[in-house]
Amino acid sequence: MIDITNLTIESAHDALKKRDYTVAELCDAYLAVIKERNADINAYLEVFDDVMEQAEKAQAKFADGTATILTGIPLAIKDNMLIKGKKVTAASKILENYVASYTATAVENLIKQGVVFLGRTNMDEFAMGSSVQTSAYGVTRNPLDRERVPGGSSGGSSAAVAMHGALAALGSETCGSIRQPAACTGLVGFKPTYGSVSRSGLIAMANSLDQICPLSRTVADAEIIHNALASCDPLDGTTVPMEQRIAKPRAKTMKIAVPSDVLKGDGMDKEVHDAFLKSFDVFKQLGYEIVPMEFPLLPYSLAVYYVVMPSELATNLERLDGIRYGYHASGTKSLFDFYSKTRGEGFGTESRRRIVLGMHALLHDGKYYRQATKLRAAITKELDHAFESVDFYITPTAPTLPFKIGEKMNDPVAMYYSDVFSAPANLSGCPAIALPTGMTPEGLPTSVQITAPRWEDENLFAIGKEFERIV
Ligand code: GLN
Repeated sequence: MIDITNLTIESAHDALKKRDYTVAELCDAYLAVIKERNADINAYLEVFDDVMEQAEKAQAKFADGTATILTGIPLAIKDNMLIKGKKVTAASKILENYVASYTATAVENLIKQGVVFLGRTNMDEFAMGSSVQTSAYGVTRNPLDRERVPGGSSGGSSAAVAMHGALAALGSETCGSIRQPAACTGLVGFKPTYGSVSRSGLIAMANSLDQICPLSRTVADAEIIHNALASCDPLDGTTVPMEQRIAKPRAKTMKIAVPSDVLKGDGMDKEVHDAFLKSFDVFKQLGYEIVPMEFPLLPYSLAVYYVVMPSELATNLERLDGIRYGYHASGTKSLFDFYSKTRGEGFGTESRRRIVLGMHALLHDGKYYRQATKLRAAITKELDHAFESVDFYITPTAPTLPFKIGEKMNDPVAMYYSDVFSAPANLSGCPAIALPTGMTPEGLPTSVQITAPRWEDENLFAIGKEFERIV
């Protein structure tokens, strides 16, 4: 029996190299958990039928000496990344039965190394949400407390890893969709600098914010996966050439900023605030000084996000008109009737809400979008300025503990608030990491988020590893 509960990529790799077990046996161990728990948790929408074929290919790499640290590692993949020949739906009815015609570049980078993808995971429809409750394929339960949400939108991926149904997983971020699910399930979630990882083959939500990201049990695992995902891709003009991925030179200060209003605990659960304050001890043990700092513009981040994101999203979702591909309504009387029924029936409530919001924001020659873009630049400047005197800034990852299934579904604004601490990193392109800090007395996970300047991703891995050693 393989003890998969304590595996890391490195320990699994060592065992595979020493032939303690085969890739097929390792995959079997995860498939057994999925078989036992997925009907209840609904982390996976589909378990791939070629897992054993993938395992065989990976095993051959060990035999011929081309294996890397990721060869044979069983991962879950969010249902918004394309693998040629496999179904991909973004958890929407409008893409039900859609089969990918090519493979996402970042995913291909992993496939080349012999990663085994076990199956595709549930998510909020088109990655809109913080709880997987907007999926057209049912809610995903949190394996730590099945009455609660696993976070979102990459909640199927976080649940898959938390239930030991995968060693780690791929998810995506537009605003917090890796970090908040990581926080809800006691995992590590890493959002890289924008431009690190190709978005080609990631079903677009909002292009100027989207990134493919790892979700894992340890910081080292997140680092290994991220480094394999990252590449400069001619198919995504926003990926930055590898030699230009250089942070602005600056002296190390051993200081970490905390926004003053966050320090006070405004708008967050008491347990979240307590755990956040307690995490300062760890940073202090690591030699850092915690400094309160005023960020006058940061509180506008979420509002800016809710103009920028829907504008880009509404534009992206225009292509789903029922004619080119995806679901199409039948028995319609006119072209208008066809469009309206196809999109009305194919998209869920949240998608329709955001399409309307986005179209509105783009009215009058993009008046609102332009205004939001200006504020986005000002927020980025504010963060850049702060990073002249501190190494990082920290906040809780999310303002609340994982909430109950059903909660916030009738209050979209309360749901949107889940990303209040996520938005600045996505708007500014900065990297950020969510790290588990422990459990509340009732057994719910807490999490701290560390944000660094653009292209200082490695510094986040370094501090993250030190933090998890002590916490
Ligand atoms: N909670 C965010 C939203 O609803 C999630 C976006 C994301 O990161 N995919 O927009």
